[in-house]
Amino acid sequence: MLDFALPPRCPGCGAITGEPHRFCLACWRSLTFLGEPCCVRCGLPFEYGGEDEAWCAGCLAEPPPFDRLRAAVAYSDVSRRVALKLKYSGRPGLAETLAHFMLRHVGAGEGDALLVPVPLHRWRIWSRGYNQAALIASALSRRTGLPVGLDLLRRTRATPPLRGLGRRERALAVRGAFRVGPGSRGRLAGRRIILVDDVYTSGATASACARTLKRAGAASVETLCWARVVRVEDS
Ligand SMILES: [Zn+2]
Ligand SMILES: [Zn+2]
Repeated sequence: MLDFALPPRCPGCGAITGEPHRFCLACWRSLTFLGEPCCVRCGLPFEYGGEDEAWCAGCLAEPPPFDRLRAAVAYSDVSRRVALKLKYSGRPGLAETLAHFMLRHVGAGEGDALLVPVPLHRWRIWSRGYNQAALIASALSRRTGLPVGLDLLRRTRATPPLRGLGRRERALAVRGAFRVGPGSRGRLAGRRIILVDDVYTSGATASACARTLKRAGAASVETLCWARVVRVEDS
């Protein structure tokens, strides 16, 4: 409720802005909004538009387990700060802002999609009180009318922080950490799933979730997040 009483502020730096879901000019200019031209599979920005449906070198060498990845912005100081604010302040208004910018990447695919947030382990939910990915997924659901499955995917064990781990170590750290909730297979079977998260870094978490969802019968899995790491060496 407080969100309505206070003047809208820049999600990046807290400066007062004229309207909700607006960044101040300095923060806005520092953000890299992602879009075409990009790898059709993982959304990695291409410097020049080429042929349609082109894949980046990384996807050609090793196709990711999800069918599509899209992010609103590149990972940067400002986009990271916004994600951390949502993670540790839990202001639902911030989730609305992220959803506002992620909305244009909700692709029109075959059939009705089901939004599924990347789950937190229940210990983390108890200590923090909420799952930031679930807040974003719920905000996207309100804006798109797509259903959200908050309890479909579960984290069966707390995983260590992945920061500082190598690619292989990250994959091992999250292996077997996700399960489809009991009785949820029926809701997933043949379904187009949009997996929602705040930040995409190495892809280890999203990949583990996508594999779990597909094994449980999902027809396709698209990953949608607020910010993604764009590595120079990948382009
Ligand atoms: Zn700002
Ligand atoms: Zn790619």
